[in-house]
Amino acid sequence: MNSAMRKIAGIGAVVMLSAAIGAGIASYAQEHKGLGYQDTPLLPGGKWHVHDGNRPQPKVVDPGSFSSQEQPGKPPSDAVVLFDGTNLDHWRDGNGPAKWKIENGYMEITPKTGSITTTDQIGDCQLHIEWQEPRRLPGNGQERGNSGVIFFGRYEVQVLDSYDNPTYADGSAASIYGSWPPLVNATRKPGEWQVYDILFTVPRFEAGKLVKPGYFTVFNNGVAVHNHVELLGNSNHRQLPNYEPHPPRGSLLLQNHGNPVRYRNIWYRDLKDYEEK
Ligand code: MG
Repeated sequence: MNSAMRKIAGIGAVVMLSAAIGAGIASYAQEHKGLGYQDTPLLPGGKWHVHDGNRPQPKVVDPGSFSSQEQPGKPPSDAVVLFDGTNLDHWRDGNGPAKWKIENGYMEITPKTGSITTTDQIGDCQLHIEWQEPRRLPGNGQERGNSGVIFFGRYEVQVLDSYDNPTYADGSAASIYGSWPPLVNATRKPGEWQVYDILFTVPRFEAGKLVKPGYFTVFNNGVAVHNHVELLGNSNHRQLPNYEPHPPRGSLLLQNHGNPVRYRNIWYRDLKDYEEK
């Protein structure tokens, strides 16, 4: 090929590439033509029209599957898995790697090993966690199967055997410990797997002052037990909840209260604003 031919071939390639890109844009426009409108009123915020055809499509997520008593479900495709039943790589205790026992796809609280926290720093999120109380438990009230799902080591969604085990309401299973009892008691029997699905909005601080409180929405075994309830502050024993400034992301803590509670299938999804990437 002489230099003139090479030049022509080069131009040809550029023309073909441009045509392909042009066709790509055209096919995108064609594909989205008729999806919506531009002659409709602007929504508050002034960015999108009602039914705006140019508004980005939601990202596709495989929703996974629900759990059964026999088997944990599959997390959604965009979840961060904190525990899949095989290892404690995402967890540590005060001294190093977490030491809770793992068997049959669950972890079990082991005496004298302390509470465990995630290495992941979590923010506004959807958290899924499954837990099970031992079938035979000594003790009553707060001494029966006590553990806890504690966001940032501060805000506790209580884990307790609350099946036929009265205690103070704001300390029963699925309570926001020390602040809000669950709206109903949807706790299953000991020995059965139970599921918390939790939406957590992190409180925000500026210059050491609370500027926006936190919120919890909680489902216990699929039953709504907190509906966007305002966080009052840290979960405390026999003292008022209190806010202390902290960053917008932090660890999740699973409480070791000395009872052999089991956990499986733990994952979270970051929750962002509509326009946030
Ligand atoms: Mg607890």
